[in-house]
Amino acid sequence: MGPVWRLIKGQKDICHRCGREIVDFPAVGRVVDFQFKPEAKYCWDCYRYLTPFVDDIAPVSQDPFQPVTKPAIP
Ligand SMILES: [Zn+2]
Repeated sequence: MGPVWRLIKGQKDICHRCGREIVDFPAVGRVVDFQFKPEAKYCWDCYRYLTPFVDDIAPVSQDPFQPVTKPAIP
């Protein structure tokens, strides 16, 4: 499985690219055993810089184990 993006909420961390302190930040990582393992965390400025190279961030982070299914409402 390739890298996935998640929105991490309520955690304080440091941006991997610029070193700024971040809260509620996008992180890229992998899902291992249905658990999200972040590999890099970014501030929103760096995320915006990286955006052309990545998929859209997952809009919902509270339920990272939700399987990818067809939306009920088209
Ligand atoms: Zn940054």
